[in-house]
Amino acid sequence: ILCNSADIGLIGLAVMGQNLILNMNDHGFKVCAFNRTVSKVDHFLENEAKGTNIIGAHSVEELCAKLKRPRKVMLLVKAGPAVDAFIETLLPHLEPGDIIIDGGNSHFPDTTRRCEELEKKGILYVGSGVSGGEEGARYGPSLMPGGNPKAWPEIKSIFQAVSAKAPDGQPCCDWVGEGGAGHYVKMVHNGIEYGDMQLISEVYHIMKEGLGINNDQMADIFEEWNKEELDSFLIEITRDILRFKDEDGSSLLEKILDKAGQKGTGKWTAIDSLDRGIPVTLITEAVYSRCLSSLKDERTHASKILKGPTNVKFQGDQQNFIKQIGSALYASKIVSYAQGFMLMRQAAEDFGWNLNYSGIALMWRGGCIIRSRFLGQIKDAYNNNPKLENLLFDPFFQEAAAKAQDSWRTVVGTSATLGIPAPTLSCALSFYDGLRHERLPANMIQAQRDYFGAHTYERLDQPGKYVHTNWTGTG
Ligand code: NAP
Repeated sequence: ILCNSADIGLIGLAVMGQNLILNMNDHGFKVCAFNRTVSKVDHFLENEAKGTNIIGAHSVEELCAKLKRPRKVMLLVKAGPAVDAFIETLLPHLEPGDIIIDGGNSHFPDTTRRCEELEKKGILYVGSGVSGGEEGARYGPSLMPGGNPKAWPEIKSIFQAVSAKAPDGQPCCDWVGEGGAGHYVKMVHNGIEYGDMQLISEVYHIMKEGLGINNDQMADIFEEWNKEELDSFLIEITRDILRFKDEDGSSLLEKILDKAGQKGTGKWTAIDSLDRGIPVTLITEAVYSRCLSSLKDERTHASKILKGPTNVKFQGDQQNFIKQIGSALYASKIVSYAQGFMLMRQAAEDFGWNLNYSGIALMWRGGCIIRSRFLGQIKDAYNNNPKLENLLFDPFFQEAAAKAQDSWRTVVGTSATLGIPAPTLSCALSFYDGLRHERLPANMIQAQRDYFGAHTYERLDQPGKYVHTNWTGTG
């Protein structure tokens, strides 16, 4: 009775896999579970999955036998060799037309490679970004599937049922594109997450060190922000973190070692942006900021010997400055998303993907870590103009940046005067100013390159003509 009965098989019974299985079960899909350490299958069936329709398998062969055709097998295992190992193990038990889905945080070139290799064998491969952490997996993640498009009609109903829903009820899941497109978009999502988190940590720093605001007061400020244009999951959890007290009644946040960890997806985004020649400065700066935070011993030493501004205190209207900080945060966020979409646009061109930017904004609108009201406006911007060259060119965002810019400049300038680092707030402003300059000082760089390396330069008065000048006149 058990053969050919399950809608989908799921391999990997760590936190993400277990939660996604339970989520699929809630939506009426019959799932067969498997795990490398087989004892975890029985443990899961006897505990978390007790009383559900979930079934288990004790081998890959048994798993494949229990699946409806075409078989759908989803992997939620550690990214890297574990994925390749499971693909190899699965292959002898699959038939052409069967589907393998990798829901882990795989690097997109691996997904592209796997997709191509498996297509030759008739197996439809999907690499899907899954965001929202364990809570998302359980109650509705943002899902970003890409790979072999023939797989989409087969998995669409399961994916869109279990995914998060945007406030208007639309599923936060749609087909992203071919090859590694799904994992690429997930990578950029994670990069943007790095940027958003760094921006929030900078405004916390400015309010704490520059204004002397305590964490309870700051929680109230975040609470207010969360009712307005900054409304988002990360602002909401920051409010809760700021309010959270340790057992002794003091702020737990202040007892946390200031060294930020990272698992690599922000770094992948930064590296890829350099490879593609797209100035994704904010995410890259956010990755470097985590790196700087990790150099705790060096910073401790530097704090004793490197001089900062002395006897400078914030002077001005504190309430007004707090409003300006909110505007600076919002404007910088616009720049970060504009840069992220610029990167995806370039990747789409490089890889021949037909990315639907409005659909991507919708996928990020709910379920995932960067979910926010703001993503609804990005969705509208790309709905209004699917070929929008730059998010900052959309009338809504153009206006929003213009409205925020005075505050933004004040905040960046004030933090510099006070000696408080604001790397992403300030690099976002520099990018904004760079983008809106028709003429940048790159003419100087071209002259220098030609001076020392005879690299030639193009003349403004003779477009297309590259010339070399003997700058010293000596030979
Ligand atoms: P994880 O700790 O990344 O991986 C544990 C799972 O991978 C276990 O099922 C483990 O099997 C299996 N595994 C590890 N090495 C293996 C190998 N060499 N061969 C075969 N199986 C191997 O689990 P997770 O946190 O649930 O994440 C699953 C995937 O989702 C990862 O790619 C992760 O990056 C991604 N993800 C995680 C989150 C999150 O919030 N945690 C969010 C989004 C995406 P055993 O039980 O036998 O050790």
